[in-house]
Amino acid sequence: MAECIFDQIASGKIPSEVVYQDDMVMAFNDIHPKAPVHVLIIPKKHITSLAEMTKEDYPIICRMMEVANEVAKKKSTPGNYKLVINTGGGAGQVIMHLHMHLLGGRQIPGFV
Ligand code: AMP
Repeated sequence: MAECIFDQIASGKIPSEVVYQDDMVMAFNDIHPKAPVHVLIIPKKHITSLAEMTKEDYPIICRMMEVANEVAKKKSTPGNYKLVINTGGGAGQVIMHLHMHLLGGRQIPGFV
């Protein structure tokens, strides 16, 4: 099966502006930022979406949350950021590899 674009970013085949990575997750700047801070946090394992996660993947989503908080501190938006996970095409997911948008650095409206 062909690797998706985020698999290729995770393996370094496609370059990205890496903000953080470890064995489990990677964080990099979104190529079309919607806010001064717009970082994508992905699992290195290919998981299509949040809806496809299994119980054994739960540590990954926990780590993604931890990394979001760490990245927010690093990018100077501690305590003021929004996390968005588009799940499925009907909810705006374009890249079918689980990812979390971290948005911050400006006033972000309370709902979506
Ligand atoms: P979604 O609509 O939730 O699937 O979001 C996909 C996000 O991936 C969009 O915000 C895109 O700007 C971003 N994106 C697509 N290709 C790249 C890339 N090569 N590097 C960084 N971000 C990307």
